[in-house]
Amino acid sequence: MKDVLIVGAGPAGLTAGLYAARAGLDTLLVEKQMPGGQAAQTNIIENFPGFENGIGGPELAMAMEAQAQRAGVQVLYEGAEEIDCAGRRVRTQSGWHAAAALILALGAQPRRLGVPGEEALLGRGVGFCATCDGALYRGRPVAVIGGGNSAAEEALYLAGIGCEVTLVHRRDSLRAEQAVARRALENPRITPLWNSRVASFAGEEKLEALVLDDGRRIPVDAAFVAVGRTPDTALVRGQVDMDAQGFIVAGEDCRTSMPGVFVVGDARTKALRQVVTAAADGAMAASQCHKA
Ligand code: NAP
Repeated sequence: MKDVLIVGAGPAGLTAGLYAARAGLDTLLVEKQMPGGQAAQTNIIENFPGFENGIGGPELAMAMEAQAQRAGVQVLYEGAEEIDCAGRRVRTQSGWHAAAALILALGAQPRRLGVPGEEALLGRGVGFCATCDGALYRGRPVAVIGGGNSAAEEALYLAGIGCEVTLVHRRDSLRAEQAVARRALENPRITPLWNSRVASFAGEEKLEALVLDDGRRIPVDAAFVAVGRTPDTALVRGQVDMDAQGFIVAGEDCRTSMPGVFVVGDARTKALRQVVTAAADGAMAASQCHKA
C-alpha cells in the first residue's frame, strides 16, 4: 500500500506528486494518456509565472512530469477503470492500487454543443483542439465556436498558421481575458460573428459548412468547438459531494466529503481554473495528506 495515490497527471496531479514525494511520502500517480492534461493541448501558455515569453503547453507538461519523477513519484500510464473512494483505491489494467490518501486530479474535457453533425463529423473537420489538429487546415477557412479564453486562443493559433478564422459567439463580446480578447479581435485573419449560434454542422464525408440558427451557411473546412469544459468526474459520482455540473465540492484545503480523499485542479469547485491554480491545489492537497 502506498502513502499517496493520485489519479491524473495534469498540472494539479503532477504538483501534488512533487510535493508528496518531496515530503517523503511513497507516491503513485496513474494517468490514462499523456502528462499535462489540458495544458499539454495548449499551444502557448502566457500566464504561468516565470516565463516572460510564455511556454509551450507540452513543454511545461514534460518539465512538470520530469520534475515529479525526479522527486520520486512513480508514474503508471494506465487509465483508472474504477475508483473506490471509501477504500482509497483505484483499479487500472494491472489491478487495484491502494493508499492512505487519494488525490483526484481528474480534470475536465471539452463540452459538446450537442447539435446535429457534431459527433458524426468529429475528426472529419469538427474538432475540440486546434492546437492538436489545426495544422491539417493551414491556410484554409475555419471556424471557432465560443467566446472564452479557449476560443480566443484557438482562433489566434489558427490565424497564426494562416487560416481565415470565423469566430462564432452567441453574445456580442468575448468573455476571454482582456489581453487575449483584444489580440484576437485586432487580428485581421479573425472575423467575429456576434450573436450567432450553430444549429448544425453540414457535410457528407467531411465538414463543409456551419449552419447557423438563422439559416445562414458559413462554408469552412474545419470547426473547433471551444464552449467550455465539463469535469471528468463520472467515476466518482455518488461517492463524494458534487455540484449540479459535476464539479467535486471542496474548499481551498481540497478535502472532499470523503475523509482521506482530496480533489485538485479543474475538477474542484472553484472560481478560477488555470494552470497556476491547479498547481496550487496540488501543493495544498499533498501538504494535507499526512493529516489524512
Ligand atoms: P469558458 O470560459 O467557460 O467559456 C465558454 C464560452 O463558450 C463562453 O463564451 C460561453 O458563452 C460559450 N458557450 C458555452 N456553452 C455554449 C453553447 N451551448 N453554445 C454556444 N456557446 C456556448 O470556457 P473556456 O474558454 O474553455 O475556459 C475554461 C476555463 O479555462 C476558464 O476558466 C478559462 O479562464 C480557463 N482557460 C484559461 C486559459 C488561459 O488563461 N491561458 C486558456 C484557456 C482556458 P457565454 O459567454 O455566453 O457564457
